Amino acid sequence: MSAAGPPQGARPPWGERREATSGGNHPAPAAPVLVVKPGREKSLLQRHPWLFSGAIARVDGAPPEPGATVLVAGADGKFLAQAAYSPQSQIRARVWTFESGDAVDAAFITRRVERAAAARAAMLDANHTGVRLIHGESDGLPGVIADRYGNVVVMQLAAAGAEHWRKVLAQALADAAGARCVYERSDAEVRQLEGLPPRTGVAFGVLPRVVTIFEGGLCYSVDVVGGQKTGFYLDQRDNRALVRRLAKGRRVLNAFCYTGGFTLAALAGGAQSVLSLDTAAEALGLARENVARNPALDAARAEWREANVFAELRALRDAGAQFDLIVLDPPKFAPTAAHTERAARAYKDINLWALKLLAPGGLLVTFSCSGGVTADLFQKIVAGAAVDAKADAAIVGRLTASADHPVALNFPEGDYLKGLLIRKA
Ligand code: SAH
Repeated sequence: MSAAGPPQGARPPWGERREATSGGNHPAPAAPVLVVKPGREKSLLQRHPWLFSGAIARVDGAPPEPGATVLVAGADGKFLAQAAYSPQSQIRARVWTFESGDAVDAAFITRRVERAAAARAAMLDANHTGVRLIHGESDGLPGVIADRYGNVVVMQLAAAGAEHWRKVLAQALADAAGARCVYERSDAEVRQLEGLPPRTGVAFGVLPRVVTIFEGGLCYSVDVVGGQKTGFYLDQRDNRALVRRLAKGRRVLNAFCYTGGFTLAALAGGAQSVLSLDTAAEALGLARENVARNPALDAARAEWREANVFAELRALRDAGAQFDLIVLDPPKFAPTAAHTERAARAYKDINLWALKLLAPGGLLVTFSCSGGVTADLFQKIVAGAAVDAKADAAIVGRLTASADHPVALNFPEGDYLKGLLIRKA
């Protein structure tokens, strides 16, 4: 079958082969083994990278440390994967590799970082200096997020295995990106599920006083220390470019504007006016500065309002306001499937009011970044909103995250951002 090794039947037991290539020093010969319940190995055989606690029959060997590399075996004893152990999480192990012969060591982690960084090289140029370098499971690095902002990399670790390799990751990121600084923003709530305390601060180098990026030639300041997530929503890069192409001459409403990503894009595209809404005063402050950073933009066309979108859409309607292009990019209303129903109501509400506020021929660019809401469900929600708004409207585009946020074919959970471009009749 394969020229690289003996035929399947003659293959030595996985322990032996692994030791041969790992130099004998890692993992220890007696690496603990998670034995999967009969019938529960199916997802691993399909190369899905998560092993849930309920699928594990027992742990053979010494109890593994959090983040340690363990072997995963089927009920029949056959090797399935090498994974990072998360004793406190429902996701009890996250797979590093489905190959028994790989040594999961610093060189392995570094190669994964290099591979991910190399895949983004074509997305970077003088006009685009921000890119997601590592997108977790879809880059073979479960629990690791890394965003590059010019010569600063912001790293976010959200799983015990990622935490275990923290120093190696920071160094590998610094090297792969040629970065001046790796800043850690491991303060996502999901760390609690792993029993990990929050950690923020410089992990490598020195943090410059101001961090800026260029996107589509526009300059944005990024608050890597106090901003949301890692500071900027790189996933919307292509969609901001789309809004820029569509904005000419239009009255634009940018709801959930954060630091003005879509606002700047719309102004650059020649929008007649842009009203931007957000509840976060600091984000609005930075958004204003971001417009000022770009002298080519006409700041007089931008209006900013610290407001709750749910109430403000109704207030705008009461005031008789109309728009030709509306962007709805709300936060995650449904982090998991458990929140889906409430989230569906929230999505329906804002889309309904946005459709009412659109002038005939107007465009709605609407998103959901909720893992608990599928693309199919999102379309149904927006369709329901159009019914209630008594609006004739059609989908003229389907939107996703940019190419630096890949979705591994074996990890459909990575497909979190979905958007629709809707035209009102
Ligand atoms: N479109 C932005 C990212 C939006 S992130 C970009 O391209 O950069 C979501 C934003 O929604 C956050 O800034 C958050 O402060 C804001 N937000 C959350 N709930 C809100 C609400 N009810 N009303 C207004 N803004 C809200």
